[in-house]
Amino acid sequence: MPELPEVEITARRLDSALSEAEVESALSPGMVALKSVDPPLAALAGRRVAGVRRVGKMPVVEFEPPGEPDAGIAMLVHLMSAGRLQVFDKRASLRDRTARVLVRFADGRELRLREFGTKQRAWAKLMPAGDVERDEMVVTLGPEAWPAPAVEEVARRIDQPRHLHPMLRDQRVIAGVGRSWVDEILWEAALSPFRQGSDLGDEEVERLHAALHVLGDAIDHYEEVIGDVVPDKLPMPLQVHRREGEPCPRCGATLAAVHFAEHVTTYCPEEQTGGRVLKDRRLSRLLK
Ligand SMILES: [Zn+2]
Repeated sequence: MPELPEVEITARRLDSALSEAEVESALSPGMVALKSVDPPLAALAGRRVAGVRRVGKMPVVEFEPPGEPDAGIAMLVHLMSAGRLQVFDKRASLRDRTARVLVRFADGRELRLREFGTKQRAWAKLMPAGDVERDEMVVTLGPEAWPAPAVEEVARRIDQPRHLHPMLRDQRVIAGVGRSWVDEILWEAALSPFRQGSDLGDEEVERLHAALHVLGDAIDHYEEVIGDVVPDKLPMPLQVHRREGEPCPRCGATLAAVHFAEHVTTYCPEEQTGGRVLKDRRLSRLLK
């Protein structure tokens, strides 16, 4: 699932690639992918791409008529677990089952919201550009996880009797972190995924805050290794996530994991849980 660093590099590359590109037409082959009716997709025709940015884990593409920045329309996209937003030199075949929303440009290129797998969960919404920050999916977001908010803000946000692992993935607490990067952040901070936010001491909160730099490091990594086109599968610089059974890159202990129906939490027992390997299924239920 694309998280803050992956969506950030996607937005940066799309922003460079699509600057000023003129829309010819737009359509939505994924019947349920377009979650708005007004403005209609047809309203994009003749507009130019004004910019591509990111809020939390959501890309935002802005279109405006030439010379009329006040009449901008934004497309807010939620990639969910298997969506990708990419630009292609040629138009998709109408038989392409991954196509959800297609924006065709006068120069022949196409911005494509695709989704792998059979489920249709990824979506896009069109709205006046000035309404993005008021959208229900945006207004509830916590502060962006990167660049990191002030340590006091992080301390205030996580002062809740909830386990760190699900709490940090809650976009209302802090925006941009998902199942991959939460493992990396907690490992970097040497904190147990099973600690409660409100139980952390000042020094632990500071460690957690400092650990958010892994998101910035990942963006720097992508800037180096990703060319003009963002591949379907990004080379994520993960140290512990899904590396159960491998040695911890920092202390050499064997990394352990707790498995859930839809995800897995990987951690270093030596540095994060006081030497304990957590296998208790009840604990797994608690952490959902
Ligand atoms: Zn370790």
